Order: sequence, then C-alpha cells, then structure tokens
Amino acid sequence: MSPVWHPFTQHGLNEPIPRVVRTEGAALHTADGRRVIDAISSWWVITHGHNHPRLRAAIQRAAEDFDQIIFAGWTHEPAETLARGLIEITPDPLRHVFYSDSGSTAVEVALKMVLGFWANTGRPRHRIVVMRNSYHGDTIGAMSVGERGVFNQAYSPLLFDVGTIPFPAAGAEQASLDALDALCRQDSKPAAFIVEPLILGAGGMLIYSAETLRAYAEICARHEVLFIADEVMTGWGRTGTLLACEQAGVSPDILCLSKGLTGGALPLAVTLATSEIFEAHRSTDRSRMFFHSSSYTANPIACAAAAENLAIWRDEPVLGRIDALGRAQQSRLDRVSGCPGLTGARCLGTIAAIDFDGARGGYLSPLGPWLLGFFRERDLLVRPLGDTIYVMPPYCIEAADLDRVWDAVAEAAEGWSAL
Ligand SMILES: *Cc1c(COP(=O)(O)O)cnc(C)c1O
Repeated sequence: MSPVWHPFTQHGLNEPIPRVVRTEGAALHTADGRRVIDAISSWWVITHGHNHPRLRAAIQRAAEDFDQIIFAGWTHEPAETLARGLIEITPDPLRHVFYSDSGSTAVEVALKMVLGFWANTGRPRHRIVVMRNSYHGDTIGAMSVGERGVFNQAYSPLLFDVGTIPFPAAGAEQASLDALDALCRQDSKPAAFIVEPLILGAGGMLIYSAETLRAYAEICARHEVLFIADEVMTGWGRTGTLLACEQAGVSPDILCLSKGLTGGALPLAVTLATSEIFEAHRSTDRSRMFFHSSSYTANPIACAAAAENLAIWRDEPVLGRIDALGRAQQSRLDRVSGCPGLTGARCLGTIAAIDFDGARGGYLSPLGPWLLGFFRERDLLVRPLGDTIYVMPPYCIEAADLDRVWDAVAEAAEGWSAL
C-alpha cells in the first residue's frame, strides 16, 4: 500500500488511484497508457491547457536564476513584474498585491487584512458575513466562512461564528439582499462580506446574476462594510470575462486570486487590496505592520510562471477562445438537458452544470462514487459535486473530446435511472 494519503479520498473504499505520467492540453496520460480527458481542469487550476509550452519555458528560465528568496524586506523581478501586471488588469482601486501560495491562504490573508484595517483605524470589528453554500478553502479561517457540512463537522468547534445570508436563488434575490442589509445595520457592524462572484463553485455551481452581485457591493459600500471578492475559482476567464466582478462593474476592496494565476502550472496566490487597507497598516509603528508570511511567499519561479500567464493573456486571443468554448458548452448542454433524469441545466462562461434529478443525497450520495467509476472507466476525469455534474475544461479542449464528455454525461443519466 502506498504511504501517500490523498486529499478528499476515502482510502477504505479501495478505489483505483490512477498514476499520471505526463500531461498535455486537455489530457492526462497514465502509466498504463490511457489518455484521460481532464473535464474539470484538474480541480479548476488549468486554464489554457496542461503543460503549456510558454509557461514551461518561463519556469525553466526562472529556475536558472532563482530558488526561494525571503520576501520579508527583500524583492525580486518576477514578483515586481507580476504585481504591476496584476494592478493593470484589475479594478483601479486595487493598488497593492500581497503574495501567498494557495486559495485558502489568499482568503486567510484577506480576513486578517480586514481585521487589521479595522483595528488599526481604531474601530475594531471582526464579524464576517458570508453566503450560504459558499466555499473559500479548507484551512480553519477559510472553513469558518464557508458552508458547514459533513466535510467540516469534526472541526466545527474550532470554526468562528459568522453572519450568513441565503443564496440568491432565482426569485429570492431580494430576500438575500435584505438579509445582508439587515446584518449591516446591526449595532455590531460586520467587518466584511466575502463572496464568490456570480457562481458558487464547490457549493454546486450555483449561478446568480450580475445585478445581484452589484447590489451586494452597493449595500456594503453604503454601510462601510468591506467587500471581499473570492475569485480563486471564477478568475482567469472561467465565467467568460477575466474576472467575474467585471460583469457586474464591481470593484471589491479585497480580491483573492489563485488557481489559474499561473495558468495552473505552479502554486501561487495573491490578495489584492485598496490603498485604504494598505495605508491602515503603513506607519512608523511596527506594531501596525501586516503580521503574515508563509515560507514560500512570492516564490520567484511561480511568479515568473504567472507573469508569463499575463503575457499569454496579452498576446493571444484568450477571450476569443473562452467565448468559443462557452458557446460549445452551451450547445452540448442544450443537447443533454432534455435527457430524462437530468435537470437544472445552467451555464456561465466556460462552466456548464446539470443535476441528477431525484438523487438528492448531498455530498455523501451514493451517486458520487458510482459516477466517479462510470467516468473513470471511460477515461474521463469528471468529478461530481453531490448530485451535480459539471464540465469546466481547459480552454484548449477540442470539440471531439468535449463531445465524448457530454455523451458520457447523457449515458450516465440513463445508466443511473436504470439502476
Ligand atoms: C479552490 C477554492 C479556494 C481554495 O483554494 P486552494 O488553493 O484549494 O486552497 C478558495 N476559494 C474558492 C472560491 C475556491 O474555489
């Protein structure tokens, strides 16, 4: 038995764990010679495609000059270039880039920045408002602001209290907005509202409108509650635009990015903040500095990969590819949405999702392992979220591969109904 303990894996079920030897484009190649279509971008990190030649070359170049360098009081060209590039492509009020190494740490940093801001401006606040069904990562703080359930029940005594608003399901948007407004009016004002813009990923690919997102931002601004956009999943084109916030004309106070930041090649994350938040920490008083670092902060090789990713976005028609993929996804989705057993077809940018009807068993539904096996047998990497199947492929996926994925989704619905 391998000593490797895998994430989100029940080793007791003895399910096969395929060994990948090489990646390319939209595919993983396994040790036993199979070509597996990666329909979920290896958990949402791969944007352009696996093993992108330009990213690989940038990593090779940077590795000639650099390894890790202390970032407290030191700097290097890849981090400087990347930070300037990020400021250019994100909303104007975001002026400062703080580096870390995963989406979860980007969120932890955002929460600490928020509390630092309120403490350093003499108005301590700590309550965070969150949306039902949200996911912000698996560290304690990130879990605290995420949906509670079987996946964090054992750890719940360590999770802090939050204010929660309902998901703005179609027709129930106003109730969600009113809930945020009511929480912002309480005597103990919230420090911040954190949200995944336009689509809740791990919560089941739940989509809501740009209009509602804009209304949340307006409520926060009116009540001086900081607005944190967690674009760890939605960023880098997934929703059809570089950032999901763009579609709502929303400029957050804090923006979290990771996953597609390096095109998926290396781990890296950033938390961007406004001048107000930065200035609340800048002082001659050392007790007001931002007390956060991780050993691999701003790893130069990862920063070089991310800087090259920005160059790819500048040089290549990435948005055009995203637009074409979005239309391809919609047409496949239209095709399967009539299949018996499937319901709730929805699409946003390059993300398409559909639910298995009547299987409502939540995260631990027996449907999950059945589907994993079903797709694995067909050399497809598709990983359902409870009863929801979604397809979120790298932007380079070809029509034939996309057809194979969606044909299998229809076949799975038929197979499950027949059981
Ligand atoms: C994946 C994800 C995270 C956590 O990122 P990790 O790199 O896995 O720690 C945070 N927020 C959202 C919206 C995510 O999808």
